[in-house]
Amino acid sequence: MAGRTTRAERMAAPLARQVVRDLAAEHGACLRPVQLRRTDIDTGHVEQVLIPCGHTLASVCPPCAERARILRAAQCREGWHLDHEPVIDPDPATEDQRALVTDRAETQEGRDLLASEGLDTTELDERIGELDEAITDAGLRGQVLPARPRRHRSTRRRQDAAPLPRRTVNPRTIGKTYTAPDGKTFRPSLFVTLTCPSYGRVGEDGAPADPDTYDYQRAARDALHFAALFDRFIQNLRRYVGNDLQYFAAIEPQRRLAPHVHLAIRGTISRHELREVIAATYHQVWWPTGEIRYDGGHLPVWDEHTGTYLDPDTGEVLPTWDQALDAIGEQDEPWHVARFGARFDAQGVLAGSRDASRCIGYLTKYLTKHLGDCHQADTDTQAGHAARLADALRYEPCSPTCANWLRYGIQPRNARAGLRPGACKGKAHRREYLGYAGRRVLVSRKWSGKTLADHRADRRTWLTSALGLPATDPRQYTWEPVKPGDPDHMPNGQRLLHVVADRIQWQTALELARRRAAESDLSATGRAA
Ligand SMILES: [Zn+2]
Ligand SMILES: [Zn+2]
Repeated sequence: MAGRTTRAERMAAPLARQVVRDLAAEHGACLRPVQLRRTDIDTGHVEQVLIPCGHTLASVCPPCAERARILRAAQCREGWHLDHEPVIDPDPATEDQRALVTDRAETQEGRDLLASEGLDTTELDERIGELDEAITDAGLRGQVLPARPRRHRSTRRRQDAAPLPRRTVNPRTIGKTYTAPDGKTFRPSLFVTLTCPSYGRVGEDGAPADPDTYDYQRAARDALHFAALFDRFIQNLRRYVGNDLQYFAAIEPQRRLAPHVHLAIRGTISRHELREVIAATYHQVWWPTGEIRYDGGHLPVWDEHTGTYLDPDTGEVLPTWDQALDAIGEQDEPWHVARFGARFDAQGVLAGSRDASRCIGYLTKYLTKHLGDCHQADTDTQAGHAARLADALRYEPCSPTCANWLRYGIQPRNARAGLRPGACKGKAHRREYLGYAGRRVLVSRKWSGKTLADHRADRRTWLTSALGLPATDPRQYTWEPVKPGDPDHMPNGQRLLHVVADRIQWQTALELARRRAAESDLSATGRAA
């Protein structure tokens, strides 16, 4: 082939490098493997090990994203119809962890002593902050003390939300078992979808019938506070049903680009009960309310000397975040009240049924994509809708530190020079997040009784035993990343060749192991017969 070919012929030949990538993808090998140097502590023997990048987005690494999705599906399946209480025994605290908590206790006592004598506690408060961080870094779950809201907020129920009967929550997490007349037992579970309320009528394509009356601001705020609303729903549901209800939930966008949530729930609840809990659930955002006072080129200016933002015309210092919060009065309404829409979907699902598999498919379908990439805009109206929502989200405050507060004449928390409304770096403003920057999968703690790492380890154990490989003790090795300048560093192309070869080799081995297992089963039955 070499020599006399036309340019067109040469262009038509597949690119060698692309073929390697395609082969890697085909065999489920990571496209961006990470190179590690593994040294055996006893023998000093050095080996190069390529590990998958583990990215969860298909746009970055399709095989790793697909593996992550399958792992989530396994986690979902394992917890959904669990028939025994998962046992979760936390590890005992280490010496270091205990020492940190002791230190934290002594600091608290000192601080409270100062406070009781009306003395300055700033220094010890700072120390407490540092210790709390250190405690988290040391791997302890949760906080020593619950975060105390600085301000008292009315906890009166909203008059426009129905009250909810409350029961004491008992620790049971598994659903009830029913027995059919023929003696068969079954334990039904639930698949539920909750959506946001209507912001205006939308067509089949998800685009509003009338974009001018579609409530983009409300849509943006609901998306920004969706995670908090979901938390509140779970809390209400647990109090209502009276047990420690467990769920596996995935957040996804609808065609109209509003978030909705699919939940696999262990055990059942009636539609009537669900409707009551949804109607009674709301989340109030107590942020300062007010009018937009600054816009376009007319924006507050930063003052170097005082480290504050000033009114561009009068030079008046704008209220700080804390001052603005303090100014919220008893009569004021919250900044936003997030609620679910009245429409919801619920269906009973039995363990191991085709329905169950289908629902797990729904739950994990979009996990390898950004929210903003799940629905492509095919028409101008769809693109226009996406653009208007993105614009609303760009100027909506995402958090107390958001630069967009300057539009309301309020200095964001931790204000610093260079803040510009519409240019906040918060993830929620980015187009691909559609206002929801939280976690895409929300799993309650006693779902399967395992962490994602445990589920991953299960798969690995299964694989090594299927291949008949000896279990390696991780403590036998030291690991270090191989950096580009190192003599043993492999460029990505070379790593890809290695992972393709490895992958094909162990797939062949796995196939062989499976065939052997099947054959020995056959011969065993043959002998029995
Ligand atoms: Zn990868
Ligand atoms: Zn922001």
